[in-house]
Amino acid sequence: MPAAAGKISYFPLNKINESFEPFLSQAISRVVQSGWYIRGAECEKFEKSFAAFCGAKYCVGVGNGLDALTLIFKAYIELGRLHEGDEVLVPADTYIASVLSISAAGLVPVLVDPDEETFNLSLSGVKKALTVRTKSVLAVHLYGRTSPMEALSLFAKENSLILVEDAAQAHGALCGGSFAGNLGDAAGFSFYPGKNFGALGDAGAVTTSDESLALMVKTLANYGSSKKYVNLCKGMNSRLDEIQAAALSVKLPALLFDNAKRERIAAHYLKEIRNPLVKLPDPGNPREHVWHIFAMRSECRDALQAHLTEAGVETLIHYPIPPHLQKAYRCEFASATYPVAEKIAATELSLPLHPLLTELEISRIIEAVNDFRS
Ligand SMILES: *Cc1c(COP(=O)(O)O)cnc(C)c1O
Repeated sequence: MPAAAGKISYFPLNKINESFEPFLSQAISRVVQSGWYIRGAECEKFEKSFAAFCGAKYCVGVGNGLDALTLIFKAYIELGRLHEGDEVLVPADTYIASVLSISAAGLVPVLVDPDEETFNLSLSGVKKALTVRTKSVLAVHLYGRTSPMEALSLFAKENSLILVEDAAQAHGALCGGSFAGNLGDAAGFSFYPGKNFGALGDAGAVTTSDESLALMVKTLANYGSSKKYVNLCKGMNSRLDEIQAAALSVKLPALLFDNAKRERIAAHYLKEIRNPLVKLPDPGNPREHVWHIFAMRSECRDALQAHLTEAGVETLIHYPIPPHLQKAYRCEFASATYPVAEKIAATELSLPLHPLLTELEISRIIEAVNDFRS
């Protein structure tokens, strides 16, 4: 290892955003000077370009990813297409926001143990979990890899289920030639700063090609109002602000290029990491994985993490406690076990993977993983 090797941070957000300067600062100044800060020209411009990017007809900018998903479910309830108490299938290994969005809308989350290779829902898992109360499926494209949407779409159609995407980790990921955000009935995105496509604070969006849904989401996100001081339903306040929209417009043109860089780094890891104590993630088809997270698995995960920390490589765990074991859900899932989700939580370790990693850093990371002995 090089003598002067510094610490490799998991995700150097300051450097990532610095690479978009001076354009980010110019965009912010423009908004400050405009005197219009919420739902204005910047928001409209971003919504148009992000809808076009995904291939969806509509995009509604909202406050964050959790709200995007919650608003989708609430909108379907307002439209009479879902009803309080309906069951929504969701993978048991997801980030808790997916599950919270279902609960927040008054629906019932039903966890489905994921496929251990892809970390996503499988058709067989969904089939097994189906009941007469199942009315929707929330497919999470976990770690950046799209769910098997062709199979899930067909299954959803056959069983009259609404298919929603949690695309918070999968901006720009493909499935069968279409982009995340255009693979189901509606999709929720997060632009949390640490995502592949991140704002400078909280931000999110809903994409859909269903006009009535897009309008309802937009109304619900603005106090249930589409005309000032006229309230059609009990809404919330979750709007995309102009500064975030302007920042996102600066960053959008780089997204596919940055994802391609991530894919090259992942390919590098997959080719050169050789350690019997480490199980590498399955890459899936090209461009169907945008590598938001490089999820390795190891039976001696904690020792591996300690070894990498020692070697100056920062790693994270996604996620240490699955939703059904969280105190927040102790009533709903008290007696349930989801062995695959629990196994993933006990063994997952995420390596640094971002567009600014240098060849030297990549080599150091590979070497550090290969050096690990139990
Ligand atoms: C980040 C994330 C969310 C929530 O997004 P926020 O913008 O943080 O609310 C939802 N689902 C998944 C899978 C996520 O990774």
